[in-house]
Amino acid sequence: MHPVASPGRLISFMQGRGLSPRKSLGQNFLVDANIARKMAKEARLRPEDVVVEIGPGLGALTLELARRARMVVALEIDRGLVRALQEILVDRPNVRLVEGDALKADFDGLVAKALGLQDRGRLPAYKVVANLPYYITSPLLRRLLESGFHIGCMLLMLQAEVARRLVAPPGGKEYGALTVLVQYYARPEIVMQVPRTVFFPRPEVDSAVVRLDLHARPPVEVGDRDFFFRVVRAAFAQRRKTLANALRSLVGARGPVEEALAAAGINSSRRGETLSLEEFAYLSRCLQACVGRR
Ligand code: SAM
Repeated sequence: MHPVASPGRLISFMQGRGLSPRKSLGQNFLVDANIARKMAKEARLRPEDVVVEIGPGLGALTLELARRARMVVALEIDRGLVRALQEILVDRPNVRLVEGDALKADFDGLVAKALGLQDRGRLPAYKVVANLPYYITSPLLRRLLESGFHIGCMLLMLQAEVARRLVAPPGGKEYGALTVLVQYYARPEIVMQVPRTVFFPRPEVDSAVVRLDLHARPPVEVGDRDFFFRVVRAAFAQRRKTLANALRSLVGARGPVEEALAAAGINSSRRGETLSLEEFAYLSRCLQACVGRR
């Protein structure tokens, strides 16, 4: 039986190797084989698929992924876990275990190496699957979405509260800069709710699994992408400010902001959290044009 099939087994397996769960690395291990299986199913893997798993830990998900995919590249930061996992994966020739930091790793490079490809132009779109260490959720999401890596789809276990933010519609408290970023690059969908009881050690919050299908092309035309995201961040930076005031802090003058809002047909007393992705895109293009004319 797999060592993470129950908390008792997990503890004795880790103790036997001088290991213990490290809170600073977000180590909450899945100890429910059913959830691991369900999550792997939700990844909708085909036999030709390549998966990058972030933070395989002691392999609860890795084994399920390896059963279904052509190859799993498993990227783990904790050297002790890498050693332990080598033992567990000894009869899984389609798993490449790599020690490294997901916030720094070249994902395309890892996949190219695992497939023996010299030419990155021939890299297939691959999937990213993870029960994420929660402390890196936002920077990691941003990195994976903005990097231009050949990722086709991601299936991520996140804090339930963050998952709700990713799928939130405009108008509510959960809608924010992270929502706009994610929905610009991908179509997010919550596919599973996961109670905290299936992890050891037990985290303080419940989780949810989100599937992110990356858009082949962005759904809206934003013009200058950096400027667009600066507009979005400014609009949410002080939620109680009207859009007009928030944008004035960004461009340093009232004139171009009022001109751009009028051109975009957006009432200047609205708050940023009420704007749809389409409205943000249009407003950003108008604002850049108005700023450029001065
Ligand atoms: N996948 C395992 C499971 O479901 O039981 C472990 C999940 S645990 C929530 C997160 C894992 O990510 C841990 O194994 C942790 O060591 C690893 N990790 C933490 N920070 C990381 C980073 N920056 N890059 C890669 N792995 C990381």
